Amino acid sequence: MPSTYKCLGCGRSFDDSRGLSVHKRSCKKLTGAATDSLKKRCRNIEIQQAAKVRHREEEQEAQRRREEIRDSTTEADDHDVSVSSIITLYLHNFV
Ligand SMILES: [Zn+2]
Repeated sequence: MPSTYKCLGCGRSFDDSRGLSVHKRSCKKLTGAATDSLKKRCRNIEIQQAAKVRHREEEQEAQRRREEIRDSTTEADDHDVSVSSIITLYLHNFV
């Protein structure tokens, strides 16, 4: 049984490795598949980065809500009003 070299792109078989490597350079299916997987990988990275950014935004939003709750609970205390209003002003600059 002769050993064959198979193209992963189109499935064509070659008797020697040189024949395969020559074919690989011109095989559209193989280069297309490689580009597709590369594109897919890039897309995955983009999705991961977008998820990371979204996660950060959610954390900031949660933090903001916590600060708001803290503000409303401390509003009754006179000595805390100035602090909470500063925090509120500070937060509004970021919204
Ligand atoms: Zn091929």
